[in-house]
Amino acid sequence: MIKPAKLLVATNNPGKLREYVSLLDGLPFELTTLAKAGIADDVEETGSSMEQNAIQKASVYSALSGLITLADDSGLEVDALGGEPGPFSRRYAGDDVSDRERNDFLLTKLRSVPWEGRGARFRCVIAIATPEGRVETCEGVCEGVIALDSRGEGGFGYDPIFHLPELDKRMAELTLEEKNEISHRARAAQKARPILELLGK
Ligand code: IMP
Repeated sequence: MIKPAKLLVATNNPGKLREYVSLLDGLPFELTTLAKAGIADDVEETGSSMEQNAIQKASVYSALSGLITLADDSGLEVDALGGEPGPFSRRYAGDDVSDRERNDFLLTKLRSVPWEGRGARFRCVIAIATPEGRVETCEGVCEGVIALDSRGEGGFGYDPIFHLPELDKRMAELTLEEKNEISHRARAAQKARPILELLGK
């Protein structure tokens, strides 16, 4: 039997990795990680858009590993903050802060904003790069509202403060399978599947 090609899922975020293992299930690839590929380098996110950052991460890690590589850049866009933190979501409250501190920082910033003004969305841009230098991107968005407090133990990052009006739940109150049906990352991954199917042939 011919062994499937390897696909490097290039993230150091365990929450993202867990989601991708399930989202990429059934594709003609054996998934591998940065740790398994022996890559300890961190790619600086110097772009001003998620697309630039995703392309940069996928291209650099593909060149380092010699493997077809999937990377994403994702984040939260809050209407009352003019779309911030966007590509700066991870470092919004400073380096080396916990998810909880980051969420508290955002809740404090929005303290005086009424419910109607708390619209927000998660955005995810996936980039798929090949060692030959080809890159393709796909995007997914999930709309919601920044809640008034934190709730739920699932997911990661801003999930406990991201309210989903249609489900009347926080993103962090969903199981992995439920999040993978509606999330920004799931929507981007859905678009990435046909690209990966072709690359895996
Ligand atoms: P990056 O894509 O590694 O630059 O980081 C994205 C940051 O955005 C994460 O550290 C989280 O704070 C946030 N983020 C991205 N996707 C999600 C998600 O699915 N749930 C909650 N927060 C997320």
